[in-house]
Amino acid sequence: MEQSLIMIKPDGVKQGNIGQIIHRFEQHDYQLRAIKMFTMSQELAKQHYAAHKQKDFFDDLVAFITSGPVVPMVWQGTDIIASARDIIGTTDPKAAKLNTIRADFGTDVRHNAIHGSDSVENAKIEIARFFPDM
Ligand code: UDP
Repeated sequence: MEQSLIMIKPDGVKQGNIGQIIHRFEQHDYQLRAIKMFTMSQELAKQHYAAHKQKDFFDDLVAFITSGPVVPMVWQGTDIIASARDIIGTTDPKAAKLNTIRADFGTDVRHNAIHGSDSVENAKIEIARFFPDM
């Protein structure tokens, strides 16, 4: 069964949206397999966003993602990776479809409330990164 690393970002936590975001996934036929809350180190943040290290927003992104606690989770279900990306919405909340998590809880292209793995390969890497005991 497919698994995805879904993570509520510091803005989602600070604005009190943990419960509502988790509820979006519970409304579907997905199982929550792991969850925790912690503040990412600079090192972990740089690893997680290594694909963006050449981008001009990289330093600001690392500063944001380490600015407070995050809630990483492992969700499991049929086609969860693609389906979760649909539930989450596009990167920029202002461009995201109605009723997506980012449209409802995101603020701007950086502060967009949630992360979801974008491929089977990356999901495996991200789950191992955040939940090495799984
Ligand atoms: N991001 C940013 N500035 C940008 C684009 C993206 O700070 O101009 C942040 C944003 O938080 C996004 C993350 O970098 O979620 C990763 O970007 P990606 O393009 O992988 O988007 P995602 O897969 O999260 O939709």
